[in-house]
Amino acid sequence: MTTLEKLEAVFFKLKEDPSFWQEYTRIMSTYSCRPTPLTFSQNLTKHFGGAKIYIKREDLNHTGAHKANNVMGQGLLVKRMGKPRVIAETGAGQHGVATATMAAKFGFECTIYMGEVDMERQSPNVFWMQQLGAEVVPVKDGTRTLKDAINESLRDWVTNMDTTHYVLGTACGPHPFPTMVAYFQSIIGQEAREQILKAENKLPDVICACVGGGSNALGIFQGFLEDEAVELVGVEAGGEGIKTGRHAARLTGDLGRPGVAQGYKTYFLQNEEGQMVETHSVAAGLDYIGVSPILADLYEKKRVKFTYATDEEVVEAMKLAMKKEGVIPALESAHAFVEAFKRAPEMSRDQIIIINQSGRGDKDIFTVADALKDKMWQEFIKHKAAIYESY
Ligand SMILES: *Cc1c(COP(=O)(O)O)cnc(C)c1O
Repeated sequence: MTTLEKLEAVFFKLKEDPSFWQEYTRIMSTYSCRPTPLTFSQNLTKHFGGAKIYIKREDLNHTGAHKANNVMGQGLLVKRMGKPRVIAETGAGQHGVATATMAAKFGFECTIYMGEVDMERQSPNVFWMQQLGAEVVPVKDGTRTLKDAINESLRDWVTNMDTTHYVLGTACGPHPFPTMVAYFQSIIGQEAREQILKAENKLPDVICACVGGGSNALGIFQGFLEDEAVELVGVEAGGEGIKTGRHAARLTGDLGRPGVAQGYKTYFLQNEEGQMVETHSVAAGLDYIGVSPILADLYEKKRVKFTYATDEEVVEAMKLAMKKEGVIPALESAHAFVEAFKRAPEMSRDQIIIINQSGRGDKDIFTVADALKDKMWQEFIKHKAAIYESY
């Protein structure tokens, strides 16, 4: 509690200081690519013949996703706190790479906790974290994946709180993390609102965003929360289908119920006894048992609607986005594309949908090539796993 209370005090003080947000936007425009463009997707719009489709391009951030917004913001906070070391958990490795990048830029020592299973699956990201100067610590507890890496990070943090800041990767975990991460990500919605008003002179009808922990969705939604006419839609990982039980749909499935774990209360995927169940998604970034408590609240208040997309639908949407528009959405982001593609043909030509493209998809080459049954790459993946094993 002491660690969290100290962090809370610093964060809320800086939030009131206009020079802090100025410093944040300055570094995001000179080191990352902000403001990211809002691209009118002419070809996809024509293809579906309904609503105008716009894409908010978070994929153009440095390190390839909206995660940069959060880590750079927390990095500035660490600088103001005067701590020399940062730690983070990572599942797919994207947050780990973003944190290691931020630590290199600001000159912090950096340790990344990652489940052993994830290290094998995401070995290229492990390589880059190490090249960026981070120490990557394999976590051997439990299922050896993301939730175990979070537990290990929390353990490190409570032991080394005087020197260390824990850069949590999404809008989950104990207060003030959800509020703090949502605050830094709100830059997405602020920009998108200005951009769409400039381009169309009116607000969008629908905004679609994928929901893992919930940070990119909250990021864009926050720009439009007060605009009741704007429908906000969060898209969860439907995995192999809700009925199979192999998914990560906390709010739209039948396994998500309120519970308390990892320092916060929200809808967790759990069995009758309240034990966490295993999750599945083709998109590693959405493969998590909890969801932002802020989104859970907006769900209960019915301000944000939730739905899901299956792995199969996601790969098809990604293919279409690549072929028709020349954008390569991350598998996570492609969940939002699925929902937009379902809605666009049903809407009129003067209506507008914004898709939040949370990240770029070239990181997903192995998964996508496997899903597309590309023989050469499937062989390559098998060999890669065997080589990794032998080291
Ligand atoms: C990590 C990640 C996500 C999921 O995280 P949220 O906190 O739900 O945004 C989504 N898209 C991409 C590209 C990611 O890297």
